[in-house]
Amino acid sequence: MAKYKCIYCLTEKDESAFNREHVVPRMMGTYNNGFVLGNHQVCEECNSYFSKELENKIGLDSHEAFLRMQYGNKRMSDGRILQNKRIALTGNGGIFKGLKFTVVSDSSKQERVHFDISPCIGISKVGSQDEYDYYSLDNLPQATEETLSHLKEKPHGIISVDLKREDVEQALKDKGYLSDSYTYSEPEIASMYGKTDFSTAIRISIDSIMRRVCAKTVFNYLCFSEGSDYVLQSKFDELRKYIRYGIWSNNLWFRYSQEPVSTAQLPTPTSHCVGYMFFPQNGCWNMCGCLTWFGQLTYIFKLGVTDIPITRFNVLPPTKMAYFDNDTKNISEESAVFVYGGRPDDQYHFKK
Ligand SMILES: [Zn+2]
Repeated sequence: MAKYKCIYCLTEKDESAFNREHVVPRMMGTYNNGFVLGNHQVCEECNSYFSKELENKIGLDSHEAFLRMQYGNKRMSDGRILQNKRIALTGNGGIFKGLKFTVVSDSSKQERVHFDISPCIGISKVGSQDEYDYYSLDNLPQATEETLSHLKEKPHGIISVDLKREDVEQALKDKGYLSDSYTYSEPEIASMYGKTDFSTAIRISIDSIMRRVCAKTVFNYLCFSEGSDYVLQSKFDELRKYIRYGIWSNNLWFRYSQEPVSTAQLPTPTSHCVGYMFFPQNGCWNMCGCLTWFGQLTYIFKLGVTDIPITRFNVLPPTKMAYFDNDTKNISEESAVFVYGGRPDDQYHFKK
């Protein structure tokens, strides 16, 4: 039986140990014209490691997951809840300030999501007109004299969301908020929510898992367009190790921005863009990858070094970008004439 080398673990295996790897993870969309590595390039073991240990972990827990709910070409079934390790949404003004929201997929809404408020007790903030401090039942602090005298002046000083009234009352009694001189009347925050506009603050954390998914997507694409032999070169070993085993090398780097890649002409505002190109460093051309999810979250990172010195007459291997259109489900490609960090008319400009 013929043997092949996996582009991630570099192990030589029988052809039966390989299966199909999608260039863009399927959770980010499925597309008409394929883009699959199916020619004994990624072994089954690496493939299932990637889906279990990388993709499944961010599928419902990342800013990308939020955008996937809203813009993905495959609609998510109703009621899927976004986890909040990598993305957290909190209200940003007035009565909603500090409230924690959970994002839930909901096909009846135009935005395909709705926001649930996490269960909590709100205590009017001392010295504020309409702001509250929000607590879960378990972390409600002991009432202070200052808070109690403030509450006496407030008609709706205490509110609660999604908690049983008896549980709220018990917690308020335990912590000294309820006494003869102050009784608790609950306004309908649920009715305030939905009628009032509110903005949210989004806190995002980008961890190694997310970066490895991005790097894998670009590396898959590099293999798709240049073939196995090209990506098996040792200049990609550091990135390969990071993608497959999470081992970081200080020779690698990542940048992140909340904008599309500046040279990309996305076919639609919510397309993904995947590409690779050259940039000048230490007198040589080096290779970097770029990836934009849903037209707005961009990662740029080093793919590998080359020993091609920078001259005025360089003829470099082609650089490329692919666009994954989430409306038509089509993929298109273009040769990307692009210099990272440079201007088209400066000395680093090169021709296709
Ligand atoms: Zn492998």
